[in-house]
Amino acid sequence: MVNNIDIIINNHLPEWEQIIKEHNLDIEIRINNALEFNASAKYMKSEKKSIISINKGVFIKIYDFYHSVLTEKNPRFVQMAKYPVEYVEDCVYDENEAKTLADFYVYLSLKFVFLHELGHIMSGHSAYLQSVNSKHDEFSLNMNLNEGEIVNGITAQQYQMLEIDADSFAATNMLSALLNCYTMDKTYIDRFKSVIPTTHHLPLLSITSNIISMSLQGIGAKRQQKDLSKAKYIPMRMRLNEILRVYIKVYNTYYGQQITLEEILKLVKPFEILINQYLVETGYFDESILSEENNLGELSEEIHSHTKHLYNDIWPKLRSELIYFACIQLA
Ligand SMILES: [Zn+2]
Repeated sequence: MVNNIDIIINNHLPEWEQIIKEHNLDIEIRINNALEFNASAKYMKSEKKSIISINKGVFIKIYDFYHSVLTEKNPRFVQMAKYPVEYVEDCVYDENEAKTLADFYVYLSLKFVFLHELGHIMSGHSAYLQSVNSKHDEFSLNMNLNEGEIVNGITAQQYQMLEIDADSFAATNMLSALLNCYTMDKTYIDRFKSVIPTTHHLPLLSITSNIISMSLQGIGAKRQQKDLSKAKYIPMRMRLNEILRVYIKVYNTYYGQQITLEEILKLVKPFEILINQYLVETGYFDESILSEENNLGELSEEIHSHTKHLYNDIWPKLRSELIYFACIQLA
């Protein structure tokens, strides 16, 4: 659907380059031609620099989704995307506004992908991984559920924790950047201000973009429960929960107790239903394996306690090793 993806890429790269520059980091952003939905981060010891690679497929899938769904054909979706938690009656459809809204969601979704990879580098994950593994392996973004008892020289549970940490870095930095730039004169989000009703909507739109991105990656697809002692990621549905929890924590730090996880979790299902329809219509998934009920088991008590175990038992030791490689204060 997108005619020239390079234009979309070039609309986003300057801000990301600017973030890298502001932190005085030696990171190269590479855009690969591959169509698979994937991005990665790695540290090159020999060159003493890091590389964030993002496939064109990430840009295309995200752009196509928002621009084909936020249209006159889907008034409910447009309304939910603009006002995720309140019901606004008589929401008049305006084509230009819908396009700007789609562009803003593209911006948010892509920035999260970038920040997640940046998190792997700034929090020292990539350099640490490189130090324990001579094969210079890299972190990739996709929901690759490959199993392996030892992943790249570290345990699967440590790997899971690093992914949670990169998500947490992305959510934290996304939100604080959005809130800061709302008060500045000239920013990268000026072009979207017409579709941001109030500052309070910024975190909600950002949260919604994460719910949508995760749904778009097939969170509703039927899958076998993975062995938690071997998987690279915690289950997708729990992963989304953790991202939402971080958003709420950061948001409430800025504004006091204003939103709760329960309120935000109510958004997941309606969006998932709409996105699952899109995934079926566009042929990404077969209807028979896609349902918003499929992933509810990933919020079980067992998976909750596994996630707690990662924070309480795996993180402290891992954190103490990452400190030598990180260029920021770790959580
Ligand atoms: Zn990652």
